[in-house]
Amino acid sequence: MRAAVFQGNGRLAIEDRPEPVITAPDDVIIAVEACGICGTDVQILNVPPGHPATPGTIMGHEFIGHVTAVGSAVSDLRVGQRVTVDADPKCGACTSCRAGRPANCLNLSALGIFRDGALASHVKAPAGAVYPLSEKPPREIAALIEPLACVVNGTNRAAARPGESVVVFGAGPIGCLFTAVLKAAGATPIVVVEPNATRAAVARAVGADVTVTPDELAVRRAELLPEGADIVVDAVGSLLPACIETAGMGGRIILFGMNSNARPPVHQVEITEKGLTVHGTYITNFTFPAAIRLIESGVLDLAPIVSEVLPLERTAEGIEHLRTGQATKVVITP
Ligand SMILES: [Zn+2]
Ligand SMILES: [Zn+2]
Repeated sequence: MRAAVFQGNGRLAIEDRPEPVITAPDDVIIAVEACGICGTDVQILNVPPGHPATPGTIMGHEFIGHVTAVGSAVSDLRVGQRVTVDADPKCGACTSCRAGRPANCLNLSALGIFRDGALASHVKAPAGAVYPLSEKPPREIAALIEPLACVVNGTNRAAARPGESVVVFGAGPIGCLFTAVLKAAGATPIVVVEPNATRAAVARAVGADVTVTPDELAVRRAELLPEGADIVVDAVGSLLPACIETAGMGGRIILFGMNSNARPPVHQVEITEKGLTVHGTYITNFTFPAAIRLIESGVLDLAPIVSEVLPLERTAEGIEHLRTGQATKVVITP
């Protein structure tokens, strides 16, 4: 099969790889229908990388497909069934998993990052991470389930209440998903800070009341948010200082974006004085079922987030469109 493989040091290549086969009793083989490219993939391919990954790994972790084979111990999935996959299978046995915090699992090995993922015609996943999905949602919308499940976890951490004000930094796919979910949860106003006009338009299409550039926020903050924001989301990965400045008394900050190169100086006293709560969150925590229901019901209009649907051979082009900001979400159909 053809596969998009991370070769290390910023390089991605389309290579021939053998199709995965059942080797463990809980293995599930899935024919990939659609796989989104994530900001994490862009970070992996940056030099120096903003996120670690194992060279030689097939990339792609936001995917849906149909089961083509199951191991001997798999009883609740059948061949032909449409499914999505938690790309961060939790071990269920470590101290974090046993404490009810699977997002902190000590034995994570993400598909598409540290073991082969779904930018290929077929992918193997452990049955415990595979979730049935109806045939109803279009493939490019269903491919948003994985990032949406991560965003639902972040939203849960913020304990959003109706009528609370929100600022989202960054209108990439994650910032736009936070905007859509918080809008549905009754947040108002939602201010999205984004320098790129194309991406800002997507944020407005999925629920932002106002979009501003970082410079405009500095000028209009007192007018838009006289008491500061109740919830501030960093969907960029380096903006904790701006989040602290933007949060109001008792505000909650969600640090979702990941950039391991970022080490911003922090005005710590403001966290103390305002009584802020800072939540670090990036993957799922029992939130796949909720994300699947949100997608299957169509309660969120997420179509504006998907900019392009491309074949596997054009993966590098899609990643470049994400890096330059001309695309929001690129979905590959291997
Ligand atoms: Zn992702
Ligand atoms: Zn664990």
